Amino acid sequence: MAVADDETDGLSARAHSLEQALLGSILATVPDALIVIDMHGSIVSFSAAAQNMFQYAESDVLGENISMLMPSPDRERHDGYIGHYLDTGERRIIGIGRLTSARRRDGSVFPIELSVGEVSDQGRRLFTGFIRDLTERQQAERRVADLQAELAHTSRVTAMGTLASALAHELNQPLTAIANYMEAGRDLLDAEGPVDRDLLREAMDESAAQALRAGEIIRSLREFIKRGETMRQPESLRGLLAEGAALAFIGVDSRGLDMDISVDPRVDKVLANRVQLQQVIINLTKNAVEAMANSPARILRLSAIPAPSPTDAGRVEVIVADSGPGLDPDMSRTLFTPFTTTKASGMGVGLSISQTIVEGHGGRIWASPSQWGGTAFHFTLDAVD
Ligand code: ADP
Repeated sequence: MAVADDETDGLSARAHSLEQALLGSILATVPDALIVIDMHGSIVSFSAAAQNMFQYAESDVLGENISMLMPSPDRERHDGYIGHYLDTGERRIIGIGRLTSARRRDGSVFPIELSVGEVSDQGRRLFTGFIRDLTERQQAERRVADLQAELAHTSRVTAMGTLASALAHELNQPLTAIANYMEAGRDLLDAEGPVDRDLLREAMDESAAQALRAGEIIRSLREFIKRGETMRQPESLRGLLAEGAALAFIGVDSRGLDMDISVDPRVDKVLANRVQLQQVIINLTKNAVEAMANSPARILRLSAIPAPSPTDAGRVEVIVADSGPGLDPDMSRTLFTPFTTTKASGMGVGLSISQTIVEGHGGRIWASPSQWGGTAFHFTLDAVD
């Protein structure tokens, strides 16, 4: 039977080498990066596209832990993620896929779409990761979004112009009336002889009433703007922060950035409008990264905790902290005022939009110094029980 065995061996060897050749050709040509790891997280295969994307040669990474390709906090936690899956069988990413960030050799962080599959063969388990670099797609989406924003801006300016002239018209009446009553009062005081107190009181009563009316007009305008608030639903903060940060990194130099996202599990679920809240996270993260452009250490921390202040009891506090130079003293007074900026090409609307969104969510937003001498922006949200 030795002969037959030899034949079988020969056949399976040929099949094996065919498989290897096939795999080699797939690895060389698949457009997405394909990385295979074992159950300890060690890299066992690294496709040509992965080498391009991460700027590592295959020989640099074989046998290394996959976490070297991740920014914090996944970098420190990935072994735990695999352990959790092997222990519990609970799939958090396998077969699901998600939007997250990856880290190139030079330390720069970029947004990716990751899909993970699993292969098990004779007790050996391997995980395959397909990675698509979203930088380009998101840049394209960004360009479309920029164009849309520009259009929206133009129509907003027109709408604002209409609103402003309507407002000017409405306010003009009480203001003119106030001016008239005050002038009449002054004339009464200037007149020869005793002051007609009754007339003077009437002029002052009238102007006070007109001032209240002007206030009423402004108040109803704010009510009108506030009514534009949109649907909120339960969202995971961890997901929102990770996606928001990934989107904020597009087009900014994220090399050498030490980033971490931490969410207290007690407050992971919040009531939010996803798109709007992401806008807030993108604005704050972009501002932080831009502020650190010339900082020797570039630390970015996104975190969420149960709000410590009694005013915000039962709420969630989200913090975006950086190690930049801190706020410009002139700016700190007008931080949330539209069109105030210290940047050459800044619009100065990011923070005022963020404030409108946070307040629309029933929360508040403020800035404080961060522990690294930079700035920390805080905002609160409603938690979901
Ligand atoms: P823009 O970014 O277009 O200037 P923003 O409303 O987002 O508009 O920000 C207004 C200003 O607030 C910025 O120009 C900057 O001076 C200041 N600022 C915002 N975030 C930070 C930060 N993290 N560190 C220092 N300054 C900041």
